[in-house]
Order: sequence, then C-alpha cells, then structure tokens
Amino acid sequence: MTAQIPAHKKAKGLPRGNVRPAKDLCSDCGLCDTHFIHYVKEACAFLNQQFDQLETRVHGRQRDLDQEQEMYFGVHQKMVAARKTEPIEGAQWTGIVSSLACKMLEEKLVEGVVCVQNSPEDRFQPMPIIATTPAEILAARVNKPTLSPNLTILEQIEQGGFKKLLVIGVGCQIQALRAVQDKLGLEKLYVLGLPCVDNVTRAGLQKFLDTTSRSPETVVYYEFMQDFKVHFKHEDGSTETVPFFGLKTNQLKDVFAPSCMSCFDYTNGLADLVVGYMGAPFGWQWLVVRNETGQAMFDLIADQIETQSVDSKGDRRAAVQNSIPAYDKGVTLPMWAAKLMGVVIEKIGPKGLEYAKFSIDSHFTRNYLYTRRNYPEKLDAHVPAFAKKIVSQYKLPED
Ligand SMILES: Cc1cc2nc3c(=O)[nH]c(=O)nc-3n(C[C@H](O)[C@H](O)[C@H](O)COP(=O)(O)OP(=O)(O)OC[C@H]3O[C@@H](n4cnc5c(N)ncnc54)[C@H](O)[C@@H]3O)c2cc1C
Repeated sequence: MTAQIPAHKKAKGLPRGNVRPAKDLCSDCGLCDTHFIHYVKEACAFLNQQFDQLETRVHGRQRDLDQEQEMYFGVHQKMVAARKTEPIEGAQWTGIVSSLACKMLEEKLVEGVVCVQNSPEDRFQPMPIIATTPAEILAARVNKPTLSPNLTILEQIEQGGFKKLLVIGVGCQIQALRAVQDKLGLEKLYVLGLPCVDNVTRAGLQKFLDTTSRSPETVVYYEFMQDFKVHFKHEDGSTETVPFFGLKTNQLKDVFAPSCMSCFDYTNGLADLVVGYMGAPFGWQWLVVRNETGQAMFDLIADQIETQSVDSKGDRRAAVQNSIPAYDKGVTLPMWAAKLMGVVIEKIGPKGLEYAKFSIDSHFTRNYLYTRRNYPEKLDAHVPAFAKKIVSQYKLPED
C-alpha cells in the first residue's frame, strides 16, 4: 500500500514579488512562499479570521469577554513584569527572548528555533532562519522592525527532519502557523510570541527613520516606549528620544502596512508565552503565560530574571476618546506642544496594564475605522468579537 501524499505537497510557493492571495492586506508572513500556500484560504489571518477556533484548539478555551483582563490580553494563566539580571548586550530589551531560546536548545527541548537574523548588507532587512546553535539565536537578537516572512522556513522543517521546534514570531505569523501546525510533522511545537503593532515594509521603515530621527543612517534600534516617547539608539551608543505626539503623522499616516492597519492581534493571542513590554513599568519586560506549555517555558528562564507583579494606574478612556479624530486623520502637533503634552501625560497618564489598554484601545479604534473605510465588505467577519467589544466602548466618527 502506498502512503498518501498530503495535498499541500503538490502545491508550489509563489516567487518573491508576486501578488499574494491577500493582495494589499498581505503581511508577508511567508506562508505563500511555500507549498503550504495550499492552505492559505483558511490559514491567512487576513483572509480568514478564526480566533475562536484557534484559541480553543491551542489553549482549550476562548478568551472570556466578561473579564476585562482577558478581553484585552487574551487567554492567560499569569502576567508578570520581568527583566534579566544579566541583560544581553544589544538585545531589544533585556534579552529574555534570546536567553529562553538558547536555554531550550541547550536543554534539548527543541532541535531548532525559528528566529530572524538580518541580511549581511542591511541591519534591518529580516532574514528568517531555523537556528540550531545558541550563536545563531544570539545573532538574531534585537527587532528587525519590518514585515518579516518567518514562515518561509516551513518547508525546511520536514527537509531538516525537525521534530521539536520553537517558533518566535508576531501575531500574523503565529495565526497562520497555528492553522497549519498539524501538517508540519512535528512532535512538539513551542510558540514564543511578541506583541506587534504598526509594522512597516523595509521602504516604509526608511521613511519613518528619515522623517523622525536626527541621524537615520546610524540608528541600530528603536522602540515606542511606555514614557510616550520613541527611543532611538545610535551606532555611537547615544540615545535620541522623540515624543509620540510630535511624530510627523501627516507624513507617516500611509507608512504602516495595510495589514497592520487592519490587525487586531496586538498581544499575540495564540502564542504559549508572550514577551513584550507594554504592560510593564518603564525598563521592564512584560510576560504573559497563556497555557501549560508557556508555564514550562517560563520556568526554564526563572533563575535568570527578577520579577515584580504587574500594576495598573490612571484612566485611559478620556485620552483615547479625545485622540480618536487626531489619530485617525494623522494630525501633527508643533514640537513644543508635543513635548508639553508628553510631560503632562507621563505624569498623570495611564501606567502599567492601563498603558497597555490605552495602546490597544487607540490602535483598535484606528484600525476599526481603517477597515470600515477601506474594506467594508470584510469588516464584520474580520474584526474578532473581543475587538468589537473593545471598540464599542468609544464613540467613533461617522465617515
Ligand atoms: C515588529 C515588532 C513590533 C513590536 N511591537 C511591540 C509593541 O508594540 N509592544 C510590545 O510590548 N512589544 C512589542 N514588540 C516586542 C518587543 O519589542 C521585544 O521584541 C520583546 O520584548 C523581546 O525583547 P528581548 O530583549 O527579550 O528580545 P531579543 O532577545 O532582542 O530578541 C528579539 C527577537 O525578535 C525576533 N524578531 C526580530 N524581528 C522580528 C520580526 N520582524 N518579526 C518576528 N520576529 C522578529 C528575533 O528573532 C529575536 O529572537 C515588538 C517586536 C517586533 C519584532
């Protein structure tokens, strides 16, 4: 009897540069570069929103919309603020992600780690790989703040004989991964998720750097931080900060990828463990343990981190409501007003989990308006129930 060949093996990935099935909404997750394009209609986060089914499959249940914390941050068992006691030089924050990935490899829990290095010519050009040594993982530290086709490695999983794998990735990559996970021939998959918002193409990133930084060509790192400022680090080690409210949003309003303008998976709801910063005090990382697998991952890194409980201060609602029209239209304040507003909001504004909710509310309302305006026929099916409930707390402008 001959073994049945899975249907997807007969499919062929699209060459780079060809239009993808999701067209303008493609986030370049990489799925369509591989024969797993066979599943794109079900798997693509922008063609088929299926949070309820995937949350149930991965975590055993959907998020509870009657509990505010779950509605915002997804299914979880625990949230903490943490930082490495010995931070990794050159990591995005303190290097919890890279350290955990190295540990999982060293402990032989996995044979490979999907992560994103940069191309030899360009520090921000993403180059996804399956790392099989700690050195390769460490070479992937720090964000490449651009759309990254992480799932281009899917065919290499079988070719390389990988049975136990850790995948590090952002929401759109993880949604597609979860949809095809059973077809990958893996015995165990671990998913370490990063929160993600407002991503850009490599060209879009250049425009952002050119309009925002005093020295775009020397930027080695940047982050939108909890103090309402963008922090840039330069090659010479100097830091530059620009207040959020002073960003040239009139020039930048088309810079974000359409996929990111219509994304509602900011906090990576389908990962086992999420490592970001948005719910933590300034300088700390924010860890969300979603299920037992995530707890096992957390335990592995416990002796390398110090932790504190997450906190919440302030009330975001009026600030979100008042900024909806300006955010939607991309209004830019003069720099003196932006700095003043930054100082005031940092003193009295939302902190900890309330800051995370401020950011989620601001992005979800903006993205809801964007989707309603540009893809009205998709709006109802594409926006998940938790995002509809979050957006419904605000009064939105009529178009
Ligand atoms: C595009 C992007 C946007 C983000 N936005 C937010 C946000 O709004 N709020 C928040 O709380 N956190 C956000 N994060 C997560 C945060 O910036 C840190 O990456 C996270 O806290 C881990 O820090 P670290 O020092 O432990 O990571 P490191 O040890 O430096 O490791 C960074 C890891 O990121 C992976 N990576 C780099 N670029 C990409 C990419 N383009 N796609 C997928 N994986 C990548 C690398 O493989 C590496 O393993 C974002 C991350 C990315 C990549």
